[in-house]
Amino acid sequence: MQSASYKLGRFFLCRLKHDSRLSQSILKFAKEKRVKMAFFTVVGAVKEARLAYYDQVGHEYQKIKFDRPLEIANCFGNLSFKAGKPFSHVHAVLADKAGKTYAGHLIGATVFAAELHLQELLGKKLEREYDQTTGLALLEFGEL
Ligand code: ZN
Repeated sequence: MQSASYKLGRFFLCRLKHDSRLSQSILKFAKEKRVKMAFFTVVGAVKEARLAYYDQVGHEYQKIKFDRPLEIANCFGNLSFKAGKPFSHVHAVLADKAGKTYAGHLIGATVFAAELHLQELLGKKLEREYDQTTGLALLEFGEL
């Protein structure tokens, strides 16, 4: 097991723009505020979304597309680096008008209205490296 301890930096509340791309907006906001690493939550609603389920045997994401408005019942993610570039890893629980929920790895979504709560982390650089066992880019804890 790998781990590292981090200090908490600034805490941000942000209203994401209507019609913006959810993950890209978070990355843009972090860049503007010079936040390198963070964890965050989002509440609100999306106009459409794409989730994915990771097939642990085939090492492939199975995509699920939703071409309709959904509530963001929960959304959680973190910011790290992948191949030296800022990277967001986001999961979401989305609800339809009947309250039925869909959850998974968030590939993308278009914001209807969304509130971002972002906690900056200060410490060792969080870099993702390819992991042969899982086929995923997992967190490694290198030097800042
Ligand atoms: Zn994921």
